[in-house]
Amino acid sequence: MRTHTSPVQVRAMERLKPPFRAIVPGKVFRNESTDASHEHTFHQMEGLCIGKDVSVGHLIGAMKTLLRGIFGREIEIRLRPGYFPFVEPGFELDARCPFCKDGCSVCKRSTWIELLPCGMVHPNVLKAGGIDPEQWTGFAFGLGLSRLVMLRHGIDDVRMLLSGDLRFLEQF
Ligand SMILES: [Zn+2]
Repeated sequence: MRTHTSPVQVRAMERLKPPFRAIVPGKVFRNESTDASHEHTFHQMEGLCIGKDVSVGHLIGAMKTLLRGIFGREIEIRLRPGYFPFVEPGFELDARCPFCKDGCSVCKRSTWIELLPCGMVHPNVLKAGGIDPEQWTGFAFGLGLSRLVMLRHGIDDVRMLLSGDLRFLEQF
């Protein structure tokens, strides 16, 4: 029972020859107490793009395109430095809260929502996948699908998603 979808990166690298792009949705499991924003089982979507001269600019462009598609309008984003073992440099990507202009309960009054960890694929990860880091670079992200669904539909308790409650499910 994996805790995140990042392990699929190496499987993609083993099967595909660069340049390539891969998108892998999957169920992940955590051993933690549940509350409105934590659940033991949820869905992530891993993204990996390997090519010539792939840069942070491509990562930002891809994320903005994805959010525009989901929310139907331009969503402002920001990157903060973050440490994740598979990427260097690594970032926390925040999206401007789609529900308010000057703070609400969803964004905890900050107007930003922490959306996903991402970064440039670490050269050692490329090497482990049989890809020459001198020739190829890439970016990767781990999107929390459950969190995105909550944002898209204004759901304030993650536990509703797996509750099996028909009053909730029949709304979709
Ligand atoms: Zn807000």
